[in-house]
Order: sequence, then structure tokens, then C-alpha cells
Amino acid sequence: MIHIAVLGSTNMDLVTYVAKAPQRGETVTGREFRTIPGGKGANQAIAAARAGATVSMIGAVGNDDFGARLRDTLEHSGADTDSLRTVEGQSGTAHIVVDDEGGNAIVVIPGANGTVDHLSPGDEGVIASADALLLQLEIPLDAVIAGAEAARRHGVRTILTPAPAQPLPPELFAATDLLVPNEYEAVTLTGRTDPREAAIALLEVVPEVVVTLGAVGSLYVARGTEPLLVPAPRVTAVDTTGAGDTFAGALAVALAEEKPVREALSWAAAAAALSVQREGASVSMPYRPEIEAQYTA
Ligand code: ADP
Repeated sequence: MIHIAVLGSTNMDLVTYVAKAPQRGETVTGREFRTIPGGKGANQAIAAARAGATVSMIGAVGNDDFGARLRDTLEHSGADTDSLRTVEGQSGTAHIVVDDEGGNAIVVIPGANGTVDHLSPGDEGVIASADALLLQLEIPLDAVIAGAEAARRHGVRTILTPAPAQPLPPELFAATDLLVPNEYEAVTLTGRTDPREAAIALLEVVPEVVVTLGAVGSLYVARGTEPLLVPAPRVTAVDTTGAGDTFAGALAVALAEEKPVREALSWAAAAAALSVQREGASVSMPYRPEIEAQYTA
């Protein structure tokens, strides 16, 4: 069975739904409040586990109620949490106000994620035993770099989602095999507004790039090959939160199974298309049989 390691964040999303977000000093009555397990690391771990891999989640939660629920959520999706540490203090949270126009305002408090600034004993062994390591940028960069370099030492493919968008140090690019930015992240990393140009510019620092293009699909570029645009299935999207994480998790599984790139991208697109047709991020992620049914080569 394919084994995917994920080094990254776990967050409890605290989502408030309100007609119009309050201004400073104002109090408004909202409609609904939900606590939704998330964090890009946990989301990618759940996506990969549901897509059929054995998954090891490396990261940290706090010793609060949210931490226990985040761990449970991962385990229920089949991800192994032996490398998910429980640290003194609060779990990561994201405080999200969603208004009736679909606009949002978000405060992220890293909490336990902020303590993941290095690899712990045992993490390198877990990474070494995986077929691929999934990384994002919601934990301190030092740990992301350490994880990528550990994977490199053991010949494990590193797949980096460069989100939240930010400039990256050369050491991280140097230890990245496949970079998977969305359009906005590709622009932030390169200063180019055309996704194809941005993808090609990124080949100067990493050997393979997939730029995700929302409902359009994804664009793959690699050194020495023609760019490949793989369309997304046409579906009615109700909530695209977590689409990129579903895509990255499923893509890691497909590539580890040695599916050819075009098939792997279509397979990931099938998974992401299923997730956008349902509410929520991790709860909307499809299981392997659903992906197989949706996938058309
Ligand atoms: P992110 O969620 O990180 O912003 P994207 O919006 O590019 O990233 O979405 C990631 C992937 O999810 C896309 O490449 C596509 O496969 C799928 N996707 C996103 N939105 C839609 C949509 N409206 N219809 C079908 N697939 C979608």
C-alpha cells in the first residue's frame, strides 16, 4: 500500500456566519457558528488517506478539547497520528467570519502549530519510510525545510503546496521535487501574472510544477517537456474550501502509484471536483471508490 507522510498544520476552524461582518466597535447578531477541523496539513492527510493511502500525520495539537477532536478526526479518516504530538497550550485555530456575500475575514492563531519548528526524534524515520512527503507553509519554515531535506536524504518525493503565499528561501526550493501552487501563489512566487509563464519561471528552482487553476483544471510543467493542461470536470461547485488540499492529497497518492502524469492529474481533479460539490473542507473529501467512479481517463 502507498504510504504518504504529511508534515504540517492542524487547525480548528471557528466559523461564524453573519449577514454583514461587524465594523470595529460594532456588535452584530450572527446566524450560525460551526467548529470545523482543518489546517492544510490535516486536510491533505485526510485527502490522501481517503484516496487510499496509509498516511502518517506529523505535527502538533494542543492539550485542549480542540486538540483531541483534531486527532480524532484524522484517525477517523484513517490517518496515523503517532507522530502528531500533543503539546502544552492551545491547538491552532482559524477565526473565520463569513458574510452573506460569501466574503470572509480570518484571524489565524498558530497555537501548537507554532511549536513545530524542527523535526522530533522519530520523524525522519517516518518520512524515510514514506513514498512521498506532503508539505505546506502553515508551520514554521525551519521545520518545512528540515522535513524536505530529510525526505531528500532518503530519496522520498517532496510535494510542496506553497500556501499561505510567501517568498521562499532557496534551500526549500532546492529540496522540493514538485511544487503545487494555485494561481495566486504562483503569481506571488514569481511576480508573473500569466500562470503558464509563472509555472515555467518556477522551473528554474524546482524540477516539476503543477499550477491549479480552479474550475479550469491544472497546468503541469517539467523541465524539457511541453506544458500539459488537464481540465477539471465541469461540476456545480457549492464550496471550494479545501479543493487545493484535496487535489494535492489525491495527486500524491496517484503519483506514488506510478500513474502517468496526465492520469494522476485527472484523478486528482476528479477527487477535487467531488469535494467542491459538497459543503466543508475535510468532511467533503471523497473516498477512493467515489474517485474511481468519477474518474475518466
Ligand atoms: P485552492 O483551493 O488551493 O485555491 P484551486 O482553486 O486552484 O486551489 O483548486 C484546486 C483544484 O480543485 C483545481 O485544480 C480543480 O481540479 C479543483 N477545483 C476547484 N474549483 C473547482 C470547480 N469549480 N469545479 C471543478 N473543479 C474545481
